[in-house]
Amino acid sequence: MLDDVMHKKFIGLLGEQGFLTEADKMQPYLQEWRDLYQGRALAVARPNSTEMVAQTILLAKEYGLKIIPQGGNTGLVGGQVAESEQEHLILSLERMTKIREIDPISNIMIVDAGVILQNIQQAADKVDRFFPLSLASEGSCQIGGNLSTNAGGVNVLSYGNTRDLCLGLEVVLADGSIWDGLRCLKKDNTGYDLKHLFIGAEGTLGIITAAVLKLVAKPRRYETFFCALPSPDAALTLLNQCKEKFGASLTSFELISALGHELSIKHAGAKRMMTTSAPWFVLGELSLGTEAGDEADILSHLLEEALSDHFILDAVLAQSEQQRKEIWHLRESLSAAQKPEGGSIKNDISIPIALIPKFIEQAAVIVDSVVADARPVIFGHMGDGNLHYNISQPVAMDKQDYLLTWDSMTSAIDVLVIEMNGSISAEHGIGKMKKEKMRAIKSDVELELMQKIKQAIDPDHLFNPGKLLP
Ligand SMILES: Cc1cc2nc3c(=O)[nH]c(=O)nc-3n(C[C@H](O)[C@H](O)[C@H](O)COP(=O)(O)OP(=O)(O)OC[C@H]3O[C@@H](n4cnc5c(N)ncnc54)[C@H](O)[C@@H]3O)c2cc1C
Repeated sequence: MLDDVMHKKFIGLLGEQGFLTEADKMQPYLQEWRDLYQGRALAVARPNSTEMVAQTILLAKEYGLKIIPQGGNTGLVGGQVAESEQEHLILSLERMTKIREIDPISNIMIVDAGVILQNIQQAADKVDRFFPLSLASEGSCQIGGNLSTNAGGVNVLSYGNTRDLCLGLEVVLADGSIWDGLRCLKKDNTGYDLKHLFIGAEGTLGIITAAVLKLVAKPRRYETFFCALPSPDAALTLLNQCKEKFGASLTSFELISALGHELSIKHAGAKRMMTTSAPWFVLGELSLGTEAGDEADILSHLLEEALSDHFILDAVLAQSEQQRKEIWHLRESLSAAQKPEGGSIKNDISIPIALIPKFIEQAAVIVDSVVADARPVIFGHMGDGNLHYNISQPVAMDKQDYLLTWDSMTSAIDVLVIEMNGSISAEHGIGKMKKEKMRAIKSDVELELMQKIKQAIDPDHLFNPGKLLP
């Protein structure tokens, strides 16, 4: 419980703007994007400096509180959700929004953890550089959250996950000490690379307060295409042809099922790119470093041949930046476009790329055996072997009844994923949602090692209790 003395101490440290206890002010931090969890917290702390984060941690410790780190609150596995009105203090990084340094010569940017991803992209653009991390939530997720979830997105194919885009970190630890690991070096083999412990740790080991990010050369041109295809096998053939021809210039290759395509048009105002109806669509993009070149011709030729060989059914090559945006809007609206269709059970999986067609075929049978007439809305980063295998409720079914089948549905899909040597969480993490499943997917040795790391770094389980570790 928050007593007067405690309240005064937090206000004294963080100011009125930095410590929220009123229900209406706390509500945005308690509401989760998918409406799967309703958060509960004692208060929300909003420090505006690393030192203030450290002081907040010490004060929380003094009163036996637990810290729930929160960035943009767009996480999809409940990692950012607080669960106790008695002892959970949400620590929001949203007031830590400084871009500390930007150096286009060294190709680095040093940022506070609370900077919104889109602002980082724009700051890079201003100095004629590119920060490649891109996700549909980029207008609200923060770099601290991206690092803590090791976010993926639509450019992983060529540029890697968030982990691959980070050179150094600043982290506040459970004893209030500050680890300054803001190194800007590409090469630094001086023992354990500690930043990798905190990246993807989902806020269970420390609070990321700043990061050194890698910038890359800004693409001068994009060639964006949208194709209709008869099958996932055909998409795989197209993917490999594109990879052979364009190598690392192929930065995105996204698969979209017919139902996802229709829902984006119906509910998110996406534009229909072609009249051809097809069971599958692909959005692909080349990012090119020169103003001019013959890639568009090579791509047109490749697509024409694919058309005459019948492994694609139709294709559109974006003719303007506006058309490129329309194509991307269709893809980026897919998550939101499922909401009006009622309950949706989500699987964020990855498998070896060659097995994707087989997975899709076998998963359809599984889905139907768990809930007849449930509707898979499949899309995702096919180039990374990562599918968002989401399943919308049958049209006539009650939403809550459908959502009660979440565990049986996801568990049945997980069995197939594990059989195929895949991952049950390709990008979104473990959080609250999947922590019990960890026992089935990790060996005892691996689980024990993870527990030992947690124990060594956060012995009092101050950070994000009940998340990630089973
Ligand atoms: C429409 C939509 C599309 C999405 N698309 C993708 C996608 O393509 N790829 C993908 O990977 N994800 C995607 N996501 C998921 C989500 O956006 C990412 O997980 C994102 O990285 C979370 O960032 P956030 O700032 O919102 O973090 P939050 O949701 O606030 O937190 C996420 C986790 O990180 C921890 N955390 C947050 N900040 C810190 C910090 N500074 N220090 C320590 N721990 C911290 C939290 O405790 C929590 O465990 C999508 C989400 C939405 C809503």
